[in-house]
Amino acid sequence: MRVPGIVYATADLLPQASGDRALEQVAAVATLPGIVRASCAMPDIHWGYGFPIGGVAATDTEAGGVVSPGGVGFDISCGVRLLAADTDRDVLAPRLPRLMDVLGDTVPRGMGRGGLWRLSGRREMDELLAGGARYAVERGHGTPRDLEFCEDRGVLEDADPSDVGERAAERGARQVGSLGSGNHFLEVQAVERVYDAPVAEAFGLRPGRVCVMIHTGSRGLGHQVCTDHVRVMDRVSAHYGIDLPDRQLACAPVDSPEGRAYLRAMAAAANYGRANRQLLTEAVRRAFDTTAGAEVELVYDISHNMAKLETHEVDGVPRRLCVHRKGATRALPAGHPDLPEEPAGAGQPVLVPGTMGTASYVLVGKEGNDAFHSACHGAGRVWSRHQALRRVRGEQLRGDLEATGIAIRPATWRGLAEETPQAYKDVDAVVDATAGAGLARPVARLVPLGVVKG
Ligand code: 5GP
Ligand code: MN
Ligand code: MN
Repeated sequence: MRVPGIVYATADLLPQASGDRALEQVAAVATLPGIVRASCAMPDIHWGYGFPIGGVAATDTEAGGVVSPGGVGFDISCGVRLLAADTDRDVLAPRLPRLMDVLGDTVPRGMGRGGLWRLSGRREMDELLAGGARYAVERGHGTPRDLEFCEDRGVLEDADPSDVGERAAERGARQVGSLGSGNHFLEVQAVERVYDAPVAEAFGLRPGRVCVMIHTGSRGLGHQVCTDHVRVMDRVSAHYGIDLPDRQLACAPVDSPEGRAYLRAMAAAANYGRANRQLLTEAVRRAFDTTAGAEVELVYDISHNMAKLETHEVDGVPRRLCVHRKGATRALPAGHPDLPEEPAGAGQPVLVPGTMGTASYVLVGKEGNDAFHSACHGAGRVWSRHQALRRVRGEQLRGDLEATGIAIRPATWRGLAEETPQAYKDVDAVVDATAGAGLARPVARLVPLGVVKG
């Protein structure tokens, strides 16, 4: 290990399930060339491809630091978007079943029915890959205000569609505006509790307000981009003299043709992910309009699978770093120069989904975060999908959740069972640990009213 591993967690939150080798993965990441300060992990840490999910690793771009697709993950720019409706839970209650039916019928899950936006061909795909959510808005899918509250204002300018292969583009062509599988969801929620009233107000969150949380990413396109570039890096790692404890950490120097090509393709896939969430926002607006006569505005949109070039002080010296966040959320404090889209000067909203049966949180970035301004991205799994399937039946789970007043619109019983709330850590404990470690500050707790599961 070139640097220590730091896991921000209580003992209860450490990966304990047999077969979860996430702590070994933290150690393996610490061997990467150019890594600075520490190989970090958030309290929602669990096993992932190469890097743990909940992992944060920063490499020095000027000192041979590497970029690794496994440090971003297969679902490039997977992330969370939070919307707020101009209605309260009590007012919406009589219309909720109908709203959930309409959402269930109109939100594509991805298999078979395709997405909400059928692109005309590779040329239009390239415009979308270059323009992200901004391109979607330009084409009438949303409002300019939406972009003000997206990380990077909805588009990464350093994307290059020509680094996205034909197969990736093909896979993405019919999936713009679709959720994808089980862990992805669209959930109607209500603000249950506010911890920081001024910041909550700046974010537009008040007790009782109805919100919608969308969790999805770059679908088959991002997956294929990751696959293609892992293959390239697997070939060239040795050529750059990089000795890896695990092939899944395949990487290349940030400042190499392969490293730069990956970052350009990753940015293009990230733009796809942001456009995807933008399209789903429009479906939510139509559903709220027709069933509840309510309008919906964007609170924030954030990615939790990304590598970004950022400047951070390391031992008092500003350095240009490639910060990998995989299942981790950027969490910048108020007034940070990299935060043009900051709502009302309050700091970066950190969106933390929990489970469809418990709660989700909104946190805010704060000063003093020593994990390269990163925080948790969810509750984090404790059971593998396979373990969940052995223990839970989807039909039963739906009945149980509906009995507690949560409307469930699943794509498949199997997908639902894999996502049983018991398969995840206790999100309240994860958020407590995140706050206790000084990574972010709680703003509001949201509870589920109804969920459309991918
Ligand atoms: P991931 O990006 O790692 O697949 O998922 C992020 C987080 O989403 C998970 O760690 C989990 O806590 C949360 N999550 C998964 N399914 C649901 C759901 O249906 N509703 C909510 N609110 N959170 C979920
Ligand atoms: Mn994802
Ligand atoms: Mn995700």
